Amino acid sequence: MESLRKGLTEIIAKIRRSSIIDEKTLKELIRGIQRELLKADVSVEIVAELSRKVEERIKKEKIPPGFSKQELLIRIIYEELIKILGGESKYSIRLKKGTSNVIMLVGIQGSGKTTTAGKLAYFFKNKGFKTALVCADNYRPGAVDQLRQLAEKVGVAFYGEENAHSAIEVAKKGVEKFRNEKYEVIIVDTAGRHKKERELIEEMKEIASAISPDEIILVLDGTIGRQAGTQAEAFHKATPIGSIIITKLDGAARGGGALAAVTKTGASISFIGMGEKIEELELFDPPSFVSRLLGMGDLKQLIERFRKAEALEKLRLTALASGKFTLLDMKEQLESLTKMGPLRKLLELLPGGFKLPEGFEEASEENIHKWVAIMNSMTQLELLKPEIINRSRMLRIAKGSGTTLRDVKNLLEAYNKSRKLLKKMMRRAKRLKGLDLTGI
Ligand code: GDP
Ligand code: MG
Repeated sequence: MESLRKGLTEIIAKIRRSSIIDEKTLKELIRGIQRELLKADVSVEIVAELSRKVEERIKKEKIPPGFSKQELLIRIIYEELIKILGGESKYSIRLKKGTSNVIMLVGIQGSGKTTTAGKLAYFFKNKGFKTALVCADNYRPGAVDQLRQLAEKVGVAFYGEENAHSAIEVAKKGVEKFRNEKYEVIIVDTAGRHKKERELIEEMKEIASAISPDEIILVLDGTIGRQAGTQAEAFHKATPIGSIIITKLDGAARGGGALAAVTKTGASISFIGMGEKIEELELFDPPSFVSRLLGMGDLKQLIERFRKAEALEKLRLTALASGKFTLLDMKEQLESLTKMGPLRKLLELLPGGFKLPEGFEEASEENIHKWVAIMNSMTQLELLKPEIINRSRMLRIAKGSGTTLRDVKNLLEAYNKSRKLLKKMMRRAKRLKGLDLTGI
């Protein structure tokens, strides 16, 4: 994955460096991404789809205030890459408490099953589960020893028989023994004698019917690239209780292709193998995986900022749609008042006898400036949802605006008065039939 990571990181850096993102730069950047993904063996179809989406979104989406087009582009690339890797949510093996959970590993020889069995045992043991390993491989010489040694290294129980006739019988015996001994996680390693999908699936079904596993995991070698999709597809169709582990991603130049192809089949990737060592197994989490691919430690923060801005925008639109008068409205109105010039002058221009509505009597110029300062010390969330402003928030706001708690309270009182007044007016206006209320 190293070369894909390098390539994509370089493109992200390029986006950050570029002063403008025009049509030409965009095309170049997208071509760069395509090149990297194709090199990683991601299929042409998936690459084309991703490019189309990125291009379409960067053209369509508005840049939220406080963000640059560069940042929006990075975010879109980040999100679209996550999509081709299965989306935001992590797959998790559902372990039932108080019972034995049997996990069976299948996959062709050399894919990394035995190594992964050891890694999983280590993973579950560390999570506090009473874990055991069962070897159901009597096909390859030394297979029993290999798993026994791993079990010893991890420090979990082991069952295997050197010269047994039937691997299925051994599996049955091992699982039964550990079920009786109340082991919580029992991991069964199998041989994977067959290279062809159909035969591999047959072998899997045969063993599965003997030991009734709770979870079947297909172990796939990441170095085979998008070819991994064919096995994943057959597996996904054959069993509803399965997930996939892709191994050897540490060295696999074509690992990206393997991940994308497997995801495309609808199968879930539970873990990824990132090295030969027992601890080099990771829960597969597309967002953090993509963050690493794009080489950005601060990417999470950028995405968080986008999320926050969006949540506030949603809140603002809801307030707007429901006709709620928020502090933000009040702030905007007062700010536009101050922009019009001195308030007294403004009032002089109005026909005589003008009186400010009740609650605004203290709206002297000084007050308005003070109020705007107070509201400037509030967060967007507070402006849109003033009801959350409690005493500790008030104190913070007062401190931030160089005012007093009393000032903040006064402002909130004035706001509540005008909000109620507006509500009353709206209600009264609504009763007058035939009146056009838009624009109130
Ligand atoms: P099995 O035949 O499916 O049981 O495969 P093994 O577990 O015996 O592994 C085959 C080879 O792949 C061994 O040399 C392992 O060390 C290696 N291997 C397994 N997982 C990984 C991994 O995540 N990264 C790397 N680099 N090598 C791995
Ligand atoms: Mg093996």
